[in-house]
Amino acid sequence: MNGDCIFCKIGAGEISSTALFRDEDVIAIADLNPQAPVHLLVMPLRHHANIVDACQAGDGALVEKLLAVAARLGREHGGTQGFRLVVNTGPSGGQTVDHLHVHVLAGRSMSWPPG
Ligand code: AMP
Ligand code: ZN
Repeated sequence: MNGDCIFCKIGAGEISSTALFRDEDVIAIADLNPQAPVHLLVMPLRHHANIVDACQAGDGALVEKLLAVAARLGREHGGTQGFRLVVNTGPSGGQTVDHLHVHVLAGRSMSWPPG
C-alpha cells in the first residue's frame, strides 16, 4: 500500500467505490469520468506504479491476471461487438494515476489511431 495513492485507497476501502469484481489480488471499478458507455478500471490491490514496474518486480503473473479479468469483463460488457483494453504508461502514454490499471472500454465503436 502506498499511502498517497488514490487507487491503493480505493482497494483498501478508504475511498468508497462500487466494485464490479473483487478477489484477493484485483479490483474492478467504474471510471469516474467515463469515455465510453462502459468504462471500467481493473487494478491490482498491490501497488505498482505502472506495468513496467510490475514486470520488473517479478509480478508478471499479476499482470496476466489483470488482463484475464479485464478480458472477461470486456466480454461480459461488450458482448459480441467487442471492447478495448488500454494500459496508459508514463506521461507520454497519458497515465494520470501512477498505480497500474487496465481500462476496459466498450459500448461504442472505437477509432484508431487513439488520441
Ligand atoms: P490514466 O489516465 O490512464 O492514469 O487513468 C486514470 C483514470 O482514473 C482516469 O480515467 C480517471 O477518470 C480515473 N479516476 C481517477 N480517480 C478515480 C476515482 N476516484 N474513481 C474512479 N476512477 C477514477
Ligand atoms: Zn497504489
